[in-house]
Amino acid sequence: MRRRLVILGSTGSIGKSALDVVASRPDEFDVVGLSAGTRAQTLLEQAREFNVDCIALADEQHREPLTTQAPPGTHVFTGSAGLIELVEASQADLVLTAIVGAAGLPSTLRTVELGIDVALANKESLVVAGDIIIPLAAETGSRLIPVDSEHSAIFQSLQSGRAEEVRRILLTASGGPFRTWTTEQIQQATLADALQHPTWTMGPKITIDSATMMNKALEIIEAHYLFGIPANRIDVLVHPESIVHSMVEFIDGSTVAQLGTPDMRTPIQYALTYPERVDGIADHIDWTQISRLNFELPDETRFPALRLGRQAAAQGGTAGAVFNAANEAAVARFQREALRFVEIAQVVEEVMDRHAPTLHPSLDELLAADAWARDEVAACLAT
Ligand code: NDP
Repeated sequence: MRRRLVILGSTGSIGKSALDVVASRPDEFDVVGLSAGTRAQTLLEQAREFNVDCIALADEQHREPLTTQAPPGTHVFTGSAGLIELVEASQADLVLTAIVGAAGLPSTLRTVELGIDVALANKESLVVAGDIIIPLAAETGSRLIPVDSEHSAIFQSLQSGRAEEVRRILLTASGGPFRTWTTEQIQQATLADALQHPTWTMGPKITIDSATMMNKALEIIEAHYLFGIPANRIDVLVHPESIVHSMVEFIDGSTVAQLGTPDMRTPIQYALTYPERVDGIADHIDWTQISRLNFELPDETRFPALRLGRQAAAQGGTAGAVFNAANEAAVARFQREALRFVEIAQVVEEVMDRHAPTLHPSLDELLAADAWARDEVAACLAT
């Protein structure tokens, strides 16, 4: 049966890989909605190629090509409200949420509210509002199928046992480009250095988050919400080859893992075709070429992000929203070269220290905490 698919963030790294997967299985999907932030031309090209009726562009200032060049009959939505209108109009069976940052939260939330299944790449939605999204999904019947390679691996490994049989999750991390750098070298790290990921090709924000290991910190919180496991039973293990995408250790001493080449098209495809497994377009592992798989503990002195993520998870309430927003604001400054690499974690820590979390927050309180943290980053840097 053909599935009606919406891809939010189709012009990004995950979005494009998802369209590659869809193109490889033309009989299985109807792409019924696509969205972008600013890249209207790319969005138009994708809409033409996949014959898509509904498109949305978040940034209204870049809408001009859509109104003049979209094929007749195309529904064009704009602004952040337009992303929600796109989901509502699409009658989708599945929405892939691949917008970067907390900007993806409202459309993820609306998808869950409508009871539509989510292929979740936008981890920031859960970090900010997991306490709202998870119970809402249980109520509406919306299934959250992870796209993040680590969470896809955990999701697949968990199918080997029952929840009460899980001892801990081992979340693997590549260690990023600075894994072997000294503290002094990391002090001098540039934007170009941070954008050189050793194993994965991804969008710029998550690539920088991998270099700081903020990405792993966000993933601890994401895994906690997705799998209902306390953060203190989620251990991070640095695995530079990025072959073992994560593992689940069961109480009998067995560890179940999912392995594959570092290619996001594999977990994306699994999320889109779940519960079926179908022929994949990524390379398969050639085991004769792999002589060793290495594992080491992360160094929380050189990479303080992990400690901050655990602090946010332990505090709960608005702490996740503040942690995420402070990181987004700091990364945006680092991308403009207005902040040094090591200052990202420093400013996030400072903002977290200034925050007194509200427990059991409403959505408005979460959004207010997000806005407060962004302002507070500016305030910290101004002093
Ligand atoms: P990219 O930066 O490559 O793409 C982001 C997408 O979101 C683009 O389509 C972009 O549009 C759109 N976008 C950006 N800002 C806004 C906004 N304010 N409102 C609406 N749309 C916006 O990111 P990635 O594909 O790398 O990552 C997407 C998500 O997936 C992130 O949450 C990331 O953590 C997660 N993820 C990514 C992985 C990867 O391999 N890339 C792996 C695992 C998870 P435009 O092109 O117009 O700017």
